[in-house]
Amino acid sequence: MGDIEKLEVRDPARVERIGAHSHIRGLGLDDVLEARAVSQGMVGQKDARRAAGIVVQMVREGKIAGRCILLSGEPSTGKTAIAVAMAQALGSETPFTSMSGSEIFSLEMSKTEALAQALRKSIGVRIKEETEIIEGEVVEIQIDRPATGTGQKVGKVTLKTTEMETNYDLGNKIIECFMKEKIQAGDIITIDKASGKVSKLGRSFTRSRDYDATGAQTRFVQCPEGELQKRKEVVHTVTLHEIDVINSRTHGFLALFSGDTGEINQEVRDQINGKISEWREEGKAEINPGVLFIDEAHMLDIECFSFLNRALEQDMSPVVIMATNRGITKIRGTIYQSPHGIPIDLLDRMIIIRTVPYAEEEIKEILKIRCEEEDCQMHPDALAILTKIATTTSLRYAIQLITTSNLVSRRRKAPEVTTSDVKKVYELFLDEQRSSRILKEFQKEYLF
Ligand code: ATP
Repeated sequence: MGDIEKLEVRDPARVERIGAHSHIRGLGLDDVLEARAVSQGMVGQKDARRAAGIVVQMVREGKIAGRCILLSGEPSTGKTAIAVAMAQALGSETPFTSMSGSEIFSLEMSKTEALAQALRKSIGVRIKEETEIIEGEVVEIQIDRPATGTGQKVGKVTLKTTEMETNYDLGNKIIECFMKEKIQAGDIITIDKASGKVSKLGRSFTRSRDYDATGAQTRFVQCPEGELQKRKEVVHTVTLHEIDVINSRTHGFLALFSGDTGEINQEVRDQINGKISEWREEGKAEINPGVLFIDEAHMLDIECFSFLNRALEQDMSPVVIMATNRGITKIRGTIYQSPHGIPIDLLDRMIIIRTVPYAEEEIKEILKIRCEEEDCQMHPDALAILTKIATTTSLRYAIQLITTSNLVSRRRKAPEVTTSDVKKVYELFLDEQRSSRILKEFQKEYLF
């Protein structure tokens, strides 16, 4: 078995985890939203990171739903990296959906339906529900031995509050919680009737079977004030898209797992929107607008842009962040040119965050972080050459050479990547410029 195969068998989880932006853990800002030079995997690009931090803050505070932000800058200047960092900074509470502009042309649904689904995946709904909580002190527990074969356990618990003692029949689920929490007589507990969850709040001395040194039972102490039945609010968080799919008769909720949701009927969406606004008025639901990130925004066409323009004006709308590396170019589906290939009326409502080319030192730092991420020991001379390559080609290309040169050095069982490993892979794998040059030179030899 070769080294590469051995490596993969040994540590598949690690191999899977490394992606183009897996070294990014956040925006790397301090308490006053200033960008630290190198932090959370992010290097330089301070102004853009600071601006992104302010956007994150506003999203968290629910202040900028329905806005559109454009990350614009040359290739490999970290636009996607900043979007990934924003997602990390927002945390799992805020929905964040990421897609590429070109994706919508390959899905088995219309472009606008794909966008509608992406927008609705980016809007969270917090649905509040009331559940009954029983609180009291456990007086006695009786649990029957499980009947053979069934695994079912039944039992009873006598709970006492300051006012009265009541018997509760215990189902299997509650008994398991009792065993897990090691609940015994004398404990103060709550039982959530909806979920069956049992929590131990503490211990009362009232029924404690403890005896002091003289053998006398410990003093009777009143157990804490408890109500027999309390009502508690539980909150479920789902996205509008999940509600759509669950309520779509043709697909059903299993489609959420397969991802094959197909097109969703507009009537279903209208009904759901109606229901949600009713719940909002009654205080039963809250909207949590998240973020939809669209990379390669110049790949969208005029139909998509007008759809987005309209969607952003609606009541329930997420923040849309787009990224593009194009200058003045044609708006797809038209004969007109526009900055970034985005129609002027949409551009007009956007706030634009610009990313700028990196200094050589910053590139070196990013490459160093990537080497650590890929468990790659690289000799300083090799890193210097790789940095030079990045400045003359692109950062993304140089990052790819880390992986390949690492493999080459491991093949020869070397402890670290040397300059000759880097040179070798540089010759083996072409960057975009060299490949285009060769294509031009040998154009005649290719098929037309
Ligand atoms: P393009 O316009 O070509 O899509 P981009 O601006 O989106 O490029 P990224 O894909 O974000 O560029 O950057 C290229 C690589 O460099 C990625 O692996 C990214 O994680 C990394 N990178 C870019 N900028 C930074 C940074 N400031 N700190 C750390 N890593 C970065």
